[in-house]
Amino acid sequence: MKVADYILKITPYEGGKPIEELQRELGLKDVIKLASNENPLGPSKKVIDIICKTAELVNLYPDGNMYYLSQKLANNLGIGEKNLIFGNGSDEIIELLYKAFATNENDEILYCYPTFIEYRIIGMAFNKKIIELPLKNYAYDIDNLISHINNNTRIIFINTPNNPTGTLTTYDDILRIINKATKDTLIVIDEAYYEYAKSSSDYKELLDLYKNENVIILRTFSKVYALAGLRVGYGIASEFIVQTLNRVRPPFNVDIIAQAAAIAALDDKEHLKKTIQTNEEGKKYLYEQFNKLGLFYVSTYANFILFSTPKDAQTIYENLLKEGVIVRSMKPYGYNNFLRVTIGTQKENEIFIEKLKKVLNV
Ligand SMILES: *Cc1c(COP(=O)(O)O)cnc(C)c1O
Repeated sequence: MKVADYILKITPYEGGKPIEELQRELGLKDVIKLASNENPLGPSKKVIDIICKTAELVNLYPDGNMYYLSQKLANNLGIGEKNLIFGNGSDEIIELLYKAFATNENDEILYCYPTFIEYRIIGMAFNKKIIELPLKNYAYDIDNLISHINNNTRIIFINTPNNPTGTLTTYDDILRIINKATKDTLIVIDEAYYEYAKSSSDYKELLDLYKNENVIILRTFSKVYALAGLRVGYGIASEFIVQTLNRVRPPFNVDIIAQAAAIAALDDKEHLKKTIQTNEEGKKYLYEQFNKLGLFYVSTYANFILFSTPKDAQTIYENLLKEGVIVRSMKPYGYNNFLRVTIGTQKENEIFIEKLKKVLNV
């Protein structure tokens, strides 16, 4: 069978190594994973209870309109239900955006890089022209980004806090982008780490930007809400964008357990608070340790830290694996001297630092 060249050029997404895989490969028992920005506390007890209860209903199709989830989230956010779209993870919404809006042959996709690699992978699958501009001081370079906007620019991805660097793009800078882009350019503000960023006094709420007809804000239940394995993400946008996305959305894209779990997760404010507090404490601890070790790191607004290593980072990464610690290699991003570590529980952070010292010989 013939496969198109643009498909053959795609390197499949490589996530953080699963714990079981490392256990299997190296015969290790104790493995910690600080590679995929997951919530180290796990899902809340209330969420687990709802998941078990909902198991009895899985003979039924889920509510394709996600009535209760939409209602609860819209209420929480103070927006209309018609301004929400849900996906099988925000990953799926990114795909729907391409499907619905990047439909012309000459469309260009614009963002700074390194950032979330799915923008590239999905863009390549749609055979789009992708313009990746370098980050400046580990953050989005807005002047350069703006200078590359033209009539073919169809989607601009702004990831704030940016994965893998943890840096913010400011409200005012996003406004500059919106003002420069034409009404035919979709501006995607990916706030997968919103709840973490929000706890900082530097963060300015971006929610009202959804009132622009060509803006969508993406958030997810995968990170702070600890539901990565269930796959629920959402977009906040104008009714026009939501309606358009609904035309191309698979009817039952968020399953019945995921919908129930997401509602329960929204209700558990205590777990959210504890998660953010654990992250703040872990961040402080890891900064201190990096400082002591003389390792450069980028200050983060999320639940992960990009840090550099004195020796080849890929070797450090592989040696950490042998010690049962999974972090994220930045080699696929071209950051050869860096690793990204997810902030874990205090115990996990301590193990990570202990093993890091061991593989660095300090
Ligand atoms: C984790 C992440 C997502 C998506 O997650 P889903 O699990 O698909 O909701 C989206 N954007 C960024 C930047 C992320 O880091």
